[in-house]
Amino acid sequence: MVVDTDRFLADLHALRRFGAFKTGVHRPTFSPQDMEARRWFVGRLREEGLEAEIDGIGNILGRSPKPGPHLLAGSHLESQNEAGWLDGALGCVAALHLARAGLPVDVAVFADEEGHYGSFIGSRSFTGLLEEAEIDRLANRYHDKPLREALREAGLEGRPRLQVERDRYKAFLEMHIEQGRQLETQGLGVGVVTGIVAIWQWRITIAGQQNHAGTTTMAERRDAGLTAVRLLAMIDEEFPRHCAERTVWTAGRIALSPGAPSIIPGGAEILFQYRDVDIDVLRRLEVVLRRCVAESNRRERCPAVLEAMSLSTPAVCDPALQDALAGAAESLAPKRWQRMPSGAGHDAQYLARVMPAAMLFVPSINGISHHWTEDTAEEDLALGMRVLAEGARRILQG
Ligand SMILES: [Zn+2]
Repeated sequence: MVVDTDRFLADLHALRRFGAFKTGVHRPTFSPQDMEARRWFVGRLREEGLEAEIDGIGNILGRSPKPGPHLLAGSHLESQNEAGWLDGALGCVAALHLARAGLPVDVAVFADEEGHYGSFIGSRSFTGLLEEAEIDRLANRYHDKPLREALREAGLEGRPRLQVERDRYKAFLEMHIEQGRQLETQGLGVGVVTGIVAIWQWRITIAGQQNHAGTTTMAERRDAGLTAVRLLAMIDEEFPRHCAERTVWTAGRIALSPGAPSIIPGGAEILFQYRDVDIDVLRRLEVVLRRCVAESNRRERCPAVLEAMSLSTPAVCDPALQDALAGAAESLAPKRWQRMPSGAGHDAQYLARVMPAAMLFVPSINGISHHWTEDTAEEDLALGMRVLAEGARRILQG
């Protein structure tokens, strides 16, 4: 097995031309520049002897002519708006270079991981979790173009959607930038991902009494805004006593109604989420959250109602695959790697539902991602590629 890291980096840089924006890329799903990148990638897959096509949802599959057992590897090619050159592209090019190194690897590019039209439509389509009716319903979140129309303009209308052949694969591998700064701050080159966090999203609605901010005494008023602030402070004090090491929580939206300077808020709505990779931690925090809301209702004059909006399941990376990647990391970068959860969602979380899956992270400079300054040192990219290939070799042998 020979990994040509120079050619790997050259392919990454070649892909950077499509939708180039400052030092990053602007490659929204199914835009002309995105489709150009997809066609270029299909060409590269064919050059390496893979049988490649784009399917009816924009997914690309490059099939290896080698006898099995096979691995499946890949990521996504579109970007967020005015974003980085490596997010997604790295995992696609790395998968191509696993095949190029002579391993029996099929290469997958999943459409719209970045969610311009929906939520993981490519990997969900490939794993049988996307209905035609949802495709009918979806539209672009920035400019409202229906997904059907975008597919037609991209020349993909009427093509069949590829479905995963479960029996063909031993495992799925995705290499990705970390998009955080854990690896960088510890001076590490590689992260072996233990799992992809689940997001538990809640809505807390607080009912107060809308009234005049000048004439209503403090004793009389029922201020939903102050109740919201005190409840969030209580949650923020309680969560650290019950969370895990890498749990994160966010009140991403606090809306007061009517939201005017001289009106006591008659209502408050909080969108609150927390993330962890361990289902037991997620459940434990639900108990804490419910207790905080009950305590708030005991103390306050404005009742709060807690409502679950979405409770996803963490995707656990396969332990044997983790061990293979960890062994490869230790042999190529001794003491310069760690195991870590992924705080962001990835296509691997859907692939993990149909086959053992694993992910490998490389550092992000200053932890920046979803921005055009996103970058990773070339030696870290090359090291990650070599670790991934050695890990893949071990997985195929094991
Ligand atoms: Zn990504």
